[in-house]
Amino acid sequence: MDDESDQEIEVDSDGLRSIASCISELMENSMENPECHVCRLCDIRYKTGVISDAPKPLIGATQEQLVQHLTTEHADAWETLRRDV
Ligand SMILES: [Zn+2]
Repeated sequence: MDDESDQEIEVDSDGLRSIASCISELMENSMENPECHVCRLCDIRYKTGVISDAPKPLIGATQEQLVQHLTTEHADAWETLRRDV
């Protein structure tokens, strides 16, 4: 179960973990529909009872829209992950 530990982390020109890498860490793609992104952080909130409604999947969202969700809803987690290189 340690397969991911030796993966190289992509770093962007600012020395931060790349946006694409952070997105793939925080967003889950549906197996049936690769256009359907489910936010893991919203899912955790839902499962731990922080929010009472199941998070809506982001269907057909662009990278920009995914980043916007993550930076507005989960700014702290996003920043932490970006620095985690
Ligand atoms: Zn979310």
